[in-house]
Amino acid sequence: RREYNIVVLGAGGVGKSCLTAQFVQNVWIESYDPTIEDSYRKVVDVDGKSTVLEILDTAGTEQFTSMRGFLLVYSITSLSSFNELAPIRDAILRIKEVDEVPMVICGNKSDLEGDRQVSKNRANHISKKWGNVPLYESSAKKRLHVDDAFMNLTRQMIRM
Ligand code: GDP
Ligand code: MG
Repeated sequence: RREYNIVVLGAGGVGKSCLTAQFVQNVWIESYDPTIEDSYRKVVDVDGKSTVLEILDTAGTEQFTSMRGFLLVYSITSLSSFNELAPIRDAILRIKEVDEVPMVICGNKSDLEGDRQVSKNRANHISKKWGNVPLYESSAKKRLHVDDAFMNLTRQMIRM
């Protein structure tokens, strides 16, 4: 069986653990221990092929040399969390010594439209600038675009 490693990165509190829990276990967990860093396995079907995903939900400084796919998460309610993505991406490309890696951007907490600080336009601009990195505005709470984000990343990893 094919096996792929994914790492979920982003500022504290943006919903990395909640997105991972929704994708892997189909559950909404209101409050996660912010220090928990763990990996989860999920078997998904991609065009009839059984594929194993090993997903690392991070909570601090990371070591991602062995990782293949990167889910970069910010919260649409936090401009600072959005601004943290560029340095994270720079670090990934520097450490991997490549120009392009399988990557997806998630603007999470899309259910909190009233508290929005990051416009869709602004996020689209970054996505384009980075070579059309797929962008989803997700909600772990409402389980919106959670599977889309992880599965898009999985397909990229299979292709690359
Ligand atoms: P992490 O530090 O990035 O792992 O963030 P968590 O997954 O622990 O989530 C931090 C907080 O944001 C928690 O209190 C969650 O209840 C909340 N949260 C996470 N995702 C969403 C979402 O999509 N919508 C809303 N409204 N809250 C969310
Ligand atoms: Mg967490």
